[in-house]
Amino acid sequence: MTSAGRFAPSPSGELHVGNLRTAILAWLFARSTGRKFLLRVEDLDRARAGTEAVQLRDLSAIGVTWDGDVVRQTERGAVYDRAIARLEDAGLTYECFCTRREIQEAASAPHAPQGAYPGTCRNLDRAELEFRRSTRPAALRLRADVAEFTVHDALHGEFTGVVDDLVLRRNDGVTAYNLAVVVDDAAQGIDQVVRGEDLLPSTPRQAYLASLLSIPVPEYAHVPLVVNRDGARLAKRDGAVTLADLAATGMDAARVRDLLLTSLGLTPGPLANALAAFSPAALPREPWVWPGMADA
Ligand code: GLU
Repeated sequence: MTSAGRFAPSPSGELHVGNLRTAILAWLFARSTGRKFLLRVEDLDRARAGTEAVQLRDLSAIGVTWDGDVVRQTERGAVYDRAIARLEDAGLTYECFCTRREIQEAASAPHAPQGAYPGTCRNLDRAELEFRRSTRPAALRLRADVAEFTVHDALHGEFTGVVDDLVLRRNDGVTAYNLAVVVDDAAQGIDQVVRGEDLLPSTPRQAYLASLLSIPVPEYAHVPLVVNRDGARLAKRDGAVTLADLAATGMDAARVRDLLLTSLGLTPGPLANALAAFSPAALPREPWVWPGMADA
C-alpha cells in the first residue's frame, strides 16, 4: 500500500479558518513527501446533515484536493468490530458501567492522573458485574497496562502523555474516536498524521492502541492552532470565520487561502506554489491570532 497523509474532519459544523489552515498543512506535508492525500469524514458522532458537502466544497475552494473516494466512518462498523474483537480475545477489555458523573467524582480524587479513567470497573467480581449489567448498558474499555506512552512528533519532538483505560465502544454502541482513528489510519495506509495540536494529548493513547493491534505508529505532526484575540481556540462565535462568512464580507476563497499561506510564511497563490519551499522546520510554532476580518 502506498503511504498517505490525510485530513479527517468531523462534520459537526462548517470548517473555520483554523480547520482550513490545518487542512492546507496536512496537504503540504503529504504532497511534499510524495504521499497520497486522503479525506476521511469522521461522522460517528456529532454529524450534522448537509455539513459534509459544505466541508468538501470549502476544501476544494482553497485548493485542497484528495485522492480516491471520501471514506466515512459510519460505513466502517464491521472493521472496528473486528479490531475490538481482537482486543477482547486477548483479554484486553472490560465492561464499564460508570456514569459521567461517577467518573468525574473519582477522577477528581487526590493523586488521580489528570484526565485519566480511575479504573472503577476494572476488577468487578461476577456478582457485581451481573448486578451492574441489569442496571445500564456497558461501555467497553481497554485494559491498559501502561500509564503513559511516548510518541515522536515532527514539531513537538518526544511527547509523553497519559494512557488510561480508554473507551473503545461507548455504551450507546458507537465506536470511540480513539479506536476508529487508529484502525482507519492503518486500513487506509496512512503513515503521516497531521492535525491540530489540541489533539496531541490523545496521541499517546492512540499510539499505544496501535501497538496493541500490531499497527505501525504513523509519523505525527501536530500543528499550531488559530486562536482568537483572547488566545482561545477559534470558534464560530468569533465572527466571520468560515468561507461563507468571509465571502459575505467580500473576501473570496483565494484570498482566504493566501492569508492562511502567508500566516505560515509560505508563498501565496495555488497550493502547488508553496510546495517547493515547504519545510516543516521553518513553520511557525506559535498559535496564529486570527486578525478578525469584520473589524480589520
Ligand atoms: N475528526 C477530528 C476533528 O475534526 C480529527 C481527528 C484526527 O485528525 O485524528 O477534530
